[in-house]
Amino acid sequence: MTTGSKYFVGNWKMFGIPSSFKILDRINQYFQKDTKNKRKYKIIMAPPFTLLQNFVTRYKNKNIFISAQNCYHKDSFGAYTGNISPFMLKKIGINYVIIGHSENRASGETDAMLKKKVFFALKNNLNIIFCIGENKKEKRNKKTFSVLKKQLTSVLEIKYNFKNIIIAYEPIWSIGSGKVPSSYELLKISINLKKFIKSKFKLNKMPKFLYGGSVNSQIISDFKSIKQLDGFLIGGASKSSKNFIDIIKNFYK
Ligand code: PEP
Repeated sequence: MTTGSKYFVGNWKMFGIPSSFKILDRINQYFQKDTKNKRKYKIIMAPPFTLLQNFVTRYKNKNIFISAQNCYHKDSFGAYTGNISPFMLKKIGINYVIIGHSENRASGETDAMLKKKVFFALKNNLNIIFCIGENKKEKRNKKTFSVLKKQLTSVLEIKYNFKNIIIAYEPIWSIGSGKVPSSYELLKISINLKKFIKSKFKLNKMPKFLYGGSVNSQIISDFKSIKQLDGFLIGGASKSSKNFIDIIKNFYK
């Protein structure tokens, strides 16, 4: 059973231009007016790198937290054309970074690189949203749990402070497909994985655990009863203020 804030994390992927702040402004306005529930949840939005500086300044004293979608696997500066380090993110005021998204794993990120990303991100006092998830074939072959365990243990370490690490379970077959696990499947995975992480990494408290993959305002009604979930990572539906707000509204309905 989970207590504390729920997380609604948006991942814009390759979307957004400077005027897209209007989407976040509308979400922020909703949040400000949501006096009944606003203490119960936290909004984190991950726009592309091009908008980070702008957004982090704009929402500095608001209740929307800005996350990066990725970071490079080196600490600070270096000859790595086109890349952004955890240090550079921290220095513009970013406090969260998504690491291990399946779209980035698919374009060549290895566990060894992810391990360094996590290490340097934590070193720079960033909170990590660490994504794990099985593909369709692994699910079909009933390998889900072993794949997830391996993704966790190849990258995370006992010595880390898990207060700064949020685990996001994102089945690859669900991302952008409109397909989601059944509530029962998701409940089972949430319980088992949280237990596994707590014991493997010798934690006193359960780690924060999110679900991501085709979350929308209808699906949220099925998943809101899963108390073991600490929130949701939302891709496509986070690009529209209405869709994102409807998810929150339906969650608390
Ligand atoms: C994601 O890519 O993190 C994601 C959850 O995408 P979607 O909600 O579009 O499936």
